[in-house]
Amino acid sequence: MGPELKQLLQLQRMDGRLELLRRELELRPQMHSVKQERLDDIIAKKAEIHEMHKDIQRRIDRIELEGKSIDEKVTDNQTKIGNATTNTEYQGFQAQIARLHTERGVVDDQLLEIWEEMEEAKALEKRADEAIQEQRSIVEGELVGLEKELASIRTEAKGILVERDALREKINSEFLEEYDALFARYKQRSVVPVDMGICGGCNMSLSPQTRADLKGDGVIHCNNCRRLLYPA
Ligand SMILES: [Zn+2]
Repeated sequence: MGPELKQLLQLQRMDGRLELLRRELELRPQMHSVKQERLDDIIAKKAEIHEMHKDIQRRIDRIELEGKSIDEKVTDNQTKIGNATTNTEYQGFQAQIARLHTERGVVDDQLLEIWEEMEEAKALEKRADEAIQEQRSIVEGELVGLEKELASIRTEAKGILVERDALREKINSEFLEEYDALFARYKQRSVVPVDMGICGGCNMSLSPQTRADLKGDGVIHCNNCRRLLYPA
């Protein structure tokens, strides 16, 4: 392999690594924000459950108030029954009290039902709190690692860029232009090996002339895809 080709191959390795690092710089924060979004979702869900919880409590308060008002009416009727002067009056109050007891029974059934709902809401809220805590510790823990990783990726990329600039200085501008055009299209598969007379880029058989040229020190192109070739 000639010296120019060696340099272009080295340049390709650097550019390939830079591409990879750039992709990492994009992808890692995206992956992290997916986890942050999941945390936001759980927090929103928990807020919904909390609203539901408050709504149930309001219903409980209302029903309990209803019960209290029935109890007061019972007490009131019991006082009246003590002061009843006629049998009809006495029976009237008693019937009233019996009706109030039935009403109170309905209220108690409602309370039992709604307390069960409340227990469920509390359990849901507790589970949501646990999920928030768990997800938050994942997100926060990852964020510390992420900042460090991104910083180290940036440092590596900067180092490569310096080396890359120095290397490009040494390469003939004609080859550089050609390489840049190839890299824009084929990325890390711009300077490719030839194995058994086959181009490592397009997988086509090379012409006998190209195969013969590979033995020399020049810069050789695939006669099909124009990629730069080196012997495997
Ligand atoms: Zn080819």
